[in-house]
Amino acid sequence: MVVEPETQHPPITPIERIGVVGAGQMGTGITQVVALNGFDVHLLDVDQARLDAAMERIRAGLARQVQRGLVDEDDVAPALARITTGTDYAMFRDSELLIDAASENEDLKRKIFQSLIAVIKPEAIIATNTSSISITRLAATTDRPERFIGMHFMNPVPRMQLIEIIRGIATQDDTYQAVRKLVGQLGKQAVTAEDFPAFIVNRILLPMINEAVYTLLEGVGNVESIDTAMKLGANHPMGPLELADFIGLDTCLAIMMVLYDGLNDSKYRPCPLLIKYVEAGWLGRKSKRGFYDYRGEVPVPTR
Ligand code: NAD
Repeated sequence: MVVEPETQHPPITPIERIGVVGAGQMGTGITQVVALNGFDVHLLDVDQARLDAAMERIRAGLARQVQRGLVDEDDVAPALARITTGTDYAMFRDSELLIDAASENEDLKRKIFQSLIAVIKPEAIIATNTSSISITRLAATTDRPERFIGMHFMNPVPRMQLIEIIRGIATQDDTYQAVRKLVGQLGKQAVTAEDFPAFIVNRILLPMINEAVYTLLEGVGNVESIDTAMKLGANHPMGPLELADFIGLDTCLAIMMVLYDGLNDSKYRPCPLLIKYVEAGWLGRKSKRGFYDYRGEVPVPTR
């Protein structure tokens, strides 16, 4: 008798409790959105200080949303009450979905999955927010490739509408459907991407940013003219260099390397000037200097 693949694994139970690993920029935003939409959420990081800082950012984020009329003030306290934080994986025992939002490092993510597998329910789904690592390869390091999926949130999570959903080669359809349903419950829109390097958004966005840096290197325009040209000429809300500083130039370079190596095509070679900025430690907003200098009152172009 042929065993139907769908029956080989415990059936998925409705998602009510969500675990998030990594309380950085993305994990914090994901936790905020998930809690606001009625899900219980456990947030884990390596130490409590980072978790406390994340809770502060979530409180501030919710307060801003209330100010802008996007969130009802009465919804804030219940959302905050749904969040628990800790450094012990045991708190994930009851979660139906685990979302990895830890740093973009494959070895680290593998270790995190091993720690998760040791405690989570056999039917729980593991999702990763990786921007660039192969979902199929990450899934293969777990005991449940059929319950493993990519859920690529955009930054900043509370503001951005899109979540890219990426199936690995072994991801089962019921896993995909459960995650798709959740995206709707979070008030977001899903786009399904195949498991190719950098998926859809970054595959298109990063080469554009890289080309803007070449345009700068070749002296076709300066920082200001390139950003102004793309804002006024292509109706982009931010110029490509301003956007690169926002994403982080190290992250931009890492994604270009993923495209270059993963697709084996010289058209993705990172611009030498981008590499130079990263070597200088000028990583954009987070280090106060990138294509703009953020140390004063207003950002000043560095070229
Ligand atoms: P970040 O550096 O802001 O946060 C990473 C967090 O992971 C930190 O708080 C760190 O302490 C924590 N961490 C590190 N090791 C850990 C461990 N062993 N256990 C638990 N937590 C650990 O990074 P980020 O920008 O939030 O990115 C997180 C993930 O989201 C990455 O996979 C990244 O590729 C992806 N992503 C980032 C963006 C973006 O624009 N920043 C967008 C989409 C997806």
